[in-house]
Amino acid sequence: MQKKKHNTTHLKRHDVHQVIIIGSGPAGFTAALYTARANLSPILFEGDQPGGQLTITTEVENYPGFEHGIQGPELMEVLRKQAQRFGTVSKFETITAVDLSKRPFTITAGDKKYHTESLIIATGARAKLLNLPSEELYMGYGVSACATCDGFFFKNQDVLVVGGGDTAMEESNYLTRFCSSVTIVHRRDEFRASKIMFDRAKANPKIHWRTNQEIIEVLGNTDERGRKVVTGAVLRNTETGTTETVPTNGIFIAIGHAPNTELFRGLIDMNDHGYIETKGKTSFTNIAGVFACGDCQDHVYRQAVTAAGTGCIAAIDAERWLEANPLIYGYEPTNDVTDIIMEAEIPHHA
Ligand code: NDP
Repeated sequence: MQKKKHNTTHLKRHDVHQVIIIGSGPAGFTAALYTARANLSPILFEGDQPGGQLTITTEVENYPGFEHGIQGPELMEVLRKQAQRFGTVSKFETITAVDLSKRPFTITAGDKKYHTESLIIATGARAKLLNLPSEELYMGYGVSACATCDGFFFKNQDVLVVGGGDTAMEESNYLTRFCSSVTIVHRRDEFRASKIMFDRAKANPKIHWRTNQEIIEVLGNTDERGRKVVTGAVLRNTETGTTETVPTNGIFIAIGHAPNTELFRGLIDMNDHGYIETKGKTSFTNIAGVFACGDCQDHVYRQAVTAAGTGCIAAIDAERWLEANPLIYGYEPTNDVTDIIMEAEIPHHA
């Protein structure tokens, strides 16, 4: 019985995973937990930033179940271990390409290829930057997008924090643990930050404010050991246009985030800002068998708990969809009876 069919994909059954998850934040690990408990043997790719954005956060006070809060990195370690306890395999590899044109989908990590019947995208978002050449020049040498990572290096120094949202408030408060002073530079005089975070920053005597101002240049030079150092910033008043040079040792950029969806551009429906579109309250994308959850598809709530919630939704959607849309497998006589070859493709566009 040597059947030859059009578009036959010659893969052994055991080469095809039931579900692959890309992304290792709360969404990815919750999707892994649920799919692992549903016996779908998920493979989760951790990517460039294992554990995601929470690994560069300090105290997480708003994740339910932790009465006294928990450190972001610790929370991610707990979520990882919980998902692994039920059989999730996490791989410390970064996906470099995806082929979603046919099932099984092909996921590439460098020179390795993986095949999967369904895919859950949980790639999250990342910090936005000012996009100034001088910001790029001094990134890592006094300019940072992560107070948790770099705050310690600014002990007893004066720093600026750019932004007017919760991230800017949270990072400023955190930095006052180390720094002599923290000045928040915000381009308007109204703040997006939630009242509680704003009030907390306002009440902190080490925090100073410069509203209606933006950084137009980062200033720096080289220290006696030949290392680049930040020495100041040029601020422009957004109302009058006047400029002023302010001395500072460090600049923390805290102006929001962008979704990590470049990998899927042109392959899957996204909105104008690059967030993956999902249908109604589900995690279904426009490609059947591909689901999206967490910050890569949510520009509104963007909380660890909502990311985890949508991770759960994606896992349940994938599980039910796989049940209703099994791939058709056929047997081909070979020396190895376990050599099972897929014979047909399922039309997959919704
Ligand atoms: P937001 O989008 O809320 O705020 C971004 C801020 O940066 C705004 O004040 C914006 O100014 C400013 N900004 C944006 N682009 C530029 C630019 N090019 N130059 C100068 N300023 C700029 O992002 P956040 O990261 O602060 O918060 C995102 C979400 O995460 C929110 O929902 C927030 O509540 C949540 N969050 C919750 C935390 C918690 O509960 N512990 C901690 C951190 C975040 P403008 O207002 O003028 O647009």
